[in-house]
Amino acid sequence: MFLSKLFIPILKNNPAEAKIKSHQLMLRAGMIRQSSAGIYSWLPLGFKIMKKIENIVREEQNKIGAQELLMPTIQSSEIWKESGRYDDYGEEMLRIKDRQNREMLYGPTNEELITEIFRSSVKSYKSMPQLLYHIQWKFRDELRPRFGIMRCREFYMKDAYSFDLNDDDAKFSYNKFFLSYLNTFKRLDLSAIPMAADTGPIGGNLSHEFVILADTGESKIYADKRIFDVNFKDSILEKKSLTKLRDNFEKYYAVTDEKFNKVEFEKNVPEQYRLITKGIEVGHIFYFGDKYSKPMKASVDHQGKKLFAKMGSYGVGVSRLVGAIIEAKYDDTKEVMKWPISVAPYECAILDSANKMDGHSVSQKALQIIDKLNTLDLIVDDTEDNISAKIKKFNLIGVPYQIILGSKTPEDSVEFREVGGKSEIIKISDIYKIQKIISDNKK
Ligand code: ATP
Ligand code: MG
Repeated sequence: MFLSKLFIPILKNNPAEAKIKSHQLMLRAGMIRQSSAGIYSWLPLGFKIMKKIENIVREEQNKIGAQELLMPTIQSSEIWKESGRYDDYGEEMLRIKDRQNREMLYGPTNEELITEIFRSSVKSYKSMPQLLYHIQWKFRDELRPRFGIMRCREFYMKDAYSFDLNDDDAKFSYNKFFLSYLNTFKRLDLSAIPMAADTGPIGGNLSHEFVILADTGESKIYADKRIFDVNFKDSILEKKSLTKLRDNFEKYYAVTDEKFNKVEFEKNVPEQYRLITKGIEVGHIFYFGDKYSKPMKASVDHQGKKLFAKMGSYGVGVSRLVGAIIEAKYDDTKEVMKWPISVAPYECAILDSANKMDGHSVSQKALQIIDKLNTLDLIVDDTEDNISAKIKKFNLIGVPYQIILGSKTPEDSVEFREVGGKSEIIKISDIYKIQKIISDNKK
């Protein structure tokens, strides 16, 4: 927890190659390091944040009854030939040959592999439905990797797959993921709006992209502003109420570029509610029926008949979310980043000015506070920097709370503030208040 001992290689200046704030900040705060075009190492600070995001994603998957497994990154081309996508997928797929000259690939997505796993084990309708997911690295040889980890070649994704007996059940599964995505993004303190989307190379007919508004986003969106006020917090995992939940959103026009139709937009959305802007896609859900189960012969027995599984797939860009949260939360005017407490790399930073003056790396006062706040995840800036440099540094790193032990702070007190907010003086004898403020905020 002492900054001088941690591996957080902070840069003094904005790296020239970074064009958007998330990329700049991630490099400056020592969260990532590029290893080659579109391929990054995750350094401790960035990795810690990503793991917290991953965990929230996981918990919300588990809540709807999805089961976690882990598929490999390297796949055999055979199953992709069965589905017909080996040729269709194009140059985004990284193709590899092993020493036996077998065609392998680094998975860009997992519809084929999960279908293969399903068909080899599930034979009866009694085992339906199945909701399965994994969180694994993907590789897509993007034509123009850019914006750091926002559009890179190797990235970390949660992808889930649903298998159902019929359309109606499959839509129920789809709606469960719809709800789980709303809950996931809410816990990340993001306002991600479900937009009707094109199904693209995955195929099928029902699809939503979850998009957060940001000028630096690559998706153009057209929406009725009232969709931002749709409430979902009391939704339960039940067929009817989930259908109603989705209806409540779909009542309002909200589409991505490919689905945009000017006439419809202007007909359905009163002028004062029209929003045309850009956003970042953080999640994407699809329903595609038997598009893969049919060519790959993934069927179950039901009353003497073989039924092809009706499938959907559901992706969240776990690594992209790290950048997306920065794009959403970084305050340009104050030059301050504040991580939502649910994913913050540390809960509170102790910025101590005394060290330089009395020659110790950490003051007695700081040690006393560390001891009293031992249930918090603290980081202590014990470097030789002066207090204003420390504050600036931590405004950038984005730890949401700061305890400042400045030279002018009274001996029996500390200065406490939420990043970007006003500070207050708190007596050391009342220091537990800080614990309470932070844990109340976590709820
Ligand atoms: P995009 O339109 O941004 O290329 P996609 O439609 O190809 O995304 P999906 O196949 O639906 O993406 O993947 C699921 C999620 O994975 C996306 O919503 C996004 O958050 C993330 N993702 C996709 N491609 C990348 C990438 N190159 N770098 C980082 N994250 C990505
Ligand atoms: Mg793509």
